[in-house]
Amino acid sequence: MILVTGGCGYIGSHCVISLLNQNKKVAVIDNFVNSDKSVLKKINLISKKNILFYKGDLRQKSFLSDVFNKHNFETVFHFAGLKSLSESYKNPLEYFSANINSTINLLQTMQKYKVYNLIFSSSATVYGQDHPLPWTEDIKLKFPESPYAQSKAFIENLLLKYYQSDMNFKIGILRYFNPIGCHSSGLIGDRIDGSTNLIPSIMLYLLGKKPYLPIYGNDYKTKDGSGIRDYIHVDDLVNGHIGALKYIIEKKGIHIWNLGSGKGYSVFQIVSKFEEHYKKRIFKKVMPRREGDLSEYWADISKAGKELNWSPSLDIDKMILDSLNHLKKLKEANL
Ligand code: NAD
Ligand code: UDP
Repeated sequence: MILVTGGCGYIGSHCVISLLNQNKKVAVIDNFVNSDKSVLKKINLISKKNILFYKGDLRQKSFLSDVFNKHNFETVFHFAGLKSLSESYKNPLEYFSANINSTINLLQTMQKYKVYNLIFSSSATVYGQDHPLPWTEDIKLKFPESPYAQSKAFIENLLLKYYQSDMNFKIGILRYFNPIGCHSSGLIGDRIDGSTNLIPSIMLYLLGKKPYLPIYGNDYKTKDGSGIRDYIHVDDLVNGHIGALKYIIEKKGIHIWNLGSGKGYSVFQIVSKFEEHYKKRIFKKVMPRREGDLSEYWADISKAGKELNWSPSLDIDKMILDSLNHLKKLKEANL
């Protein structure tokens, strides 16, 4: 059986569906801090399969032990954590606690129950700034600025040290670039309310919940002045996890892979793709640059390509069409 922490969240729920489609038995832990129980029903609706669900916080060690006691887990996909960069500046202690303390508890419990396969959700934010493009996994990390990124960098280091102390562990660290899109049913997706990310921001505008779309900076030294990121479809991202698990089981050790598309798109390019597919003009307002934003970055994905035999197959149009399908479902549900 596989344990998915944060399995009701955006990426975790997509991973659960992929695992169920491969006839794996899945248990999920989630405290619903950024999701709710409706996701469980949707997972069931999409996969026609059931999962075991435990509501609780990874920081509660006795709860975690109880769950591990009930099952023979072979693998943990560890998605649970807080993920808003901007919120992490406002509430750094909660970010360090939710991300780092949770991971420490999880590792100690895994060790106690001899569960050694771990796939961890890291982030491209660990790289910090001023690296030559595209970013490769062997770049020397610069101390990142946001508490969110610091928590991810700290956990990566913690995993490396922990592995050296117990080489039974097999660990895959996945550095995500910008996951977007959703399952083709449109039923599950990233939470948009309260999010300051680009796609949720565009969707809030299209739902009439924002008078304009803020463009944070049009004076970067990029082809059109707006920020450039590497967007990857969440289903491709999840496939990378499946490849990573296979790899660590076969090769053992601890490994790091970038998961992105390897291509950069500017904010203006993304917005015009939405305009094209939604057939509506988006009213944009250029605002000052967001604090801490980098001008442009994208991934070198050749390591994941070679070692995991993985490559993204869903292009930017599919990412946006799936997001719009999710928007349609949100409208139908009157959310
Ligand atoms: P998400 O917020 O949608 O999902 C995280 C889930 O974990 C939520 O359902 C939340 O309720 C749960 N959770 C949070 N803290 C918990 C705790 N202490 N105990 C139990 N459950 C808890 O986030 P996501 O977009 O699915 O991201 C998954 C992981 O990937 C996170 O670790 C995130 O930092 C990382 N990541 C995400 C992105 C992105 O853009 N979405 C980019 C890079 C890295
Ligand atoms: N962005 C924007 N308007 C928004 C939200 C984001 O112009 O309402 C820009 C942001 O400045 C960045 C890009 O879109 O250049 C991606 O931002 P997001 O927050 O989605 O991801 P991150 O910055 O964390 O990579």
